[in-house]
Amino acid sequence: MNYQFYMPTKVIIGKNKLEELKNMNLENNIMIVCEKFAYNLGYIDRLKEILDNVFVFDEVEPNPPTYVINNGVKFALENNIKTIIALGGGSSIDTAKAISCLEEDIENPKELKRKTKLIAIPTTSGTGSEVTNVGVYTFSNNLKKPLVTDSFWPDISIVDPTLTYSMPKNVTGSTGLDAFTHAIESYWALSTQNISKSIALKTMKLIFENLEKSIDGDKKARDVMSEASMMAGIAFSQTRTTAAHAISFPLTNIYKIPHGLACALSLYKLIEYVNNENPLEEIINYLELNSINELSSWIKKMIEKSGYSFKLRDYGVNNLEEIADISLKANIIELTPIKIDKEKLMNLLKD
Ligand code: NAD
Repeated sequence: MNYQFYMPTKVIIGKNKLEELKNMNLENNIMIVCEKFAYNLGYIDRLKEILDNVFVFDEVEPNPPTYVINNGVKFALENNIKTIIALGGGSSIDTAKAISCLEEDIENPKELKRKTKLIAIPTTSGTGSEVTNVGVYTFSNNLKKPLVTDSFWPDISIVDPTLTYSMPKNVTGSTGLDAFTHAIESYWALSTQNISKSIALKTMKLIFENLEKSIDGDKKARDVMSEASMMAGIAFSQTRTTAAHAISFPLTNIYKIPHGLACALSLYKLIEYVNNENPLEEIINYLELNSINELSSWIKKMIEKSGYSFKLRDYGVNNLEEIADISLKANIIELTPIKIDKEKLMNLLKD
């Protein structure tokens, strides 16, 4: 027993909790960081009804490129922004985290210290970014990598599941599988401890019981998924993730596979590899399964249910050695509870 547990973000969770922004006496000027879809779904109009002095920065792109962050910082400085509200998926929240440090060049920061208040409002149920100190960015060399700093913990997260009801099937499935990957990787990471493990186990069960219904559009299941992805975020914020995330980075960088799906494409095999050397009995029993193969099949089913293939070759992935070499450079791979060398990784990718 030798660990710290630190999660300083206040979490407000429940349907229509967006309205809580009214009572927060937020310092003006307020900047909303979002993608254009937030207008189409009426979310920006709702925020403008609740808040005064709102400035909207709607240039967020998936897998946030650093030039968007530099544009956002310019926008924040020009408009004397004191409070930043991220409304969107992990890409919007991560973009807002970096903007809130007001560094003019995020690739060469002087110090990554937060200069504004930061409120995160997720519209997907996946990344848990609303409760982590992580931001993942695409740098100018086209490599995607995480930055980790205490400045990235949001002050407040408002988890309002009604904002996720508009997610299409594919986004629901891919982001839900991201949350499941966070939970299982936090559970088995060499850096885990009993707090994360307990949260992760409960989270896995919530996702196992609700993801399929959530993909089908069931609102009650989507409510559960909002809570579960936040819980998975808390779990992995303390432990970090492992091989499935390491492998996901090149799959997203090179083949543009959405983040959660990119994690799941190796996860269903990785759990078999881990189970062979390090039996995952507690998970199998807690999810009331007979074998790890049932969990593996469930992941494949969820991938297909979301409208995707579970075979790498269907995404044009033809250079497995390149994927293996890039994945092995991510230091989180060393937190995997089995030793992953190049030979094992190549076998896993071939499988
Ligand atoms: P995203 O933010 O990239 O959004 C994916 C798609 O869903 C976009 O096209 C977006 O327009 C759409 N969308 C989002 N919410 C919607 C809604 N309510 N209705 C309709 N469409 C909606 O996806 P994401 O999976 O939430 O975030 C992925 C990013 O987060 C990746 O860059 C990943 O690396 C990163 N990430 C960060 C952390 C962290 O702790 N910071 C953890 C995991 C992943």
